[in-house]
Amino acid sequence: MVTQNWINSAWEKGNGKSIAVKNPSDLSETVGEITFSTSDQAKAAEVSARNAFKEWKSLTGNERGQYLYKMAQALENHAEELAELASREMGKPIGEMKGEVVRGIQLLNYYAAEGVRSDGDVIPSTTKGVLQYTKRIPLGVVALITPWNFPVAIPIWKLAPALICGNTIVWKPAENGSLTAFKLCNIVEEAGVPKGVINLVIGQGKEVGAYLTEEANMDAVSFTGSTATGTKLAGICAQRNIKYQTEMGGKNAAVVLNDADLQTALPPIVSGTFRSAGQKCTASSRIIVEEGIFDEFIDALKQEMKNVQLKHALNADAYLGPVASKEQFEKVTSYVELAKNEAEVIYEKEDDPGYDGYYINPIAVTGVTSDHPLFQEEVFGPLTVVIKVKDYDEAVNVLNKSSYGLSGSIFTNNLNKAHQFMEDAEIGMVRVNLETAGVEYQAPFGGLKQSSSHTREQGQAALSFYSNIKTCAIKY
Ligand code: NAD
Repeated sequence: MVTQNWINSAWEKGNGKSIAVKNPSDLSETVGEITFSTSDQAKAAEVSARNAFKEWKSLTGNERGQYLYKMAQALENHAEELAELASREMGKPIGEMKGEVVRGIQLLNYYAAEGVRSDGDVIPSTTKGVLQYTKRIPLGVVALITPWNFPVAIPIWKLAPALICGNTIVWKPAENGSLTAFKLCNIVEEAGVPKGVINLVIGQGKEVGAYLTEEANMDAVSFTGSTATGTKLAGICAQRNIKYQTEMGGKNAAVVLNDADLQTALPPIVSGTFRSAGQKCTASSRIIVEEGIFDEFIDALKQEMKNVQLKHALNADAYLGPVASKEQFEKVTSYVELAKNEAEVIYEKEDDPGYDGYYINPIAVTGVTSDHPLFQEEVFGPLTVVIKVKDYDEAVNVLNKSSYGLSGSIFTNNLNKAHQFMEDAEIGMVRVNLETAGVEYQAPFGGLKQSSSHTREQGQAALSFYSNIKTCAIKY
């Protein structure tokens, strides 16, 4: 497979450089080839989306919704092949990848139904004989810039609300998700969406991404990725007065109180930490444990980690696969080295999956203070740091001592402390006796602090980002 752009409903190769994609689970397998685009091609996509906007916005919500239902159906028809390709491209375990495709289908159906729901409010006028109401209107052309770690669900949770609100799209996927993006657009093409409504430009962040944010005539930019890139992009969009949304990194914590039931707490903690090799913005990369249960917790953690096995991502029961790329491998390995030099290893599960790939053993460490880089920086790998605290108050202080604020959870049977945690934790998605994670498709997703520009994705919240509000008054 060789990637192509989808511009004005025509397929064309990128005219920049090409790279071969190796399967991170088995580097002897070449999965395909990516041909990057130049900014001229991004410009053509921008023009195509702009030309398509007038017709797309003039459709009724119901008509746009029908296209989304067809896209959901097409995705369902090709779910297996898309999940398998993505798993080969970036190493996410196949079970997880299939779940991601299901999430994509749910999102498309959910937003399709928005086409016939309310798109405004009647607001009583103080003047007799005046009807005053609000109406949601589209923004125009929206750039979607997405990361590699959720190559199907994240693009769809941007694309579906953007389309139902009447916007047209230029999508630039992550370099390391380009094959999946190409395939996804091939599938979506079956829905027969009008020409130019969805445009895909395969390219590098520094060229195509930079063009879309710094030069192109975009009405909005929706970005998910690292805090470093997102913050830079937010500054540019603010200066150009372009509406933007940046969903960024996390350093999520699971808090374990003395009264937690370890038997039920350990599986979600270990899953939140190591599933998908810790490459989730919501992964638990800090575990904060009250001292009364600390020793017992460490024993239980070692026991639970023994069940975690490094496997080729296409293995049906794979839970922890390789990390996604050489860059990821080098970055995470350097944190593992740091951990081995400066922390105390609780347990490292050594495994040999039997392939030459970007495999990193899952590892848990302790013995560092809460200001250590291991406790503060996003590692994005199968490494977690456990820290001992004396009580609930210290646990909350340590949790909040972070520039990130995405997801977090507390394990306790004390209802008061569970509710108190909902108030005290400076994070966008707070959970009790559940793994640190995102939320269901119909609920708002997003973080506080440096994890987000404070807008929300998914659910009704996304509709606010992808639309503007007109306030209308009519005298009768
Ligand atoms: P990244 O910031 O390197 O890249 C994200 C996207 O931005 C890619 O498409 C990339 O090509 C593009 N890009 C890079 N430089 C750019 C520039 N100068 N201008 C415009 N676009 C540019 O992030 P990544 O490594 O792909 O993804 C991992 C990160 O994403 C982690 O930090 C993770 O926590 C975060 N993430 C956050 C969420 C969330 O919803 N909060 C979800 C998933 C991942």
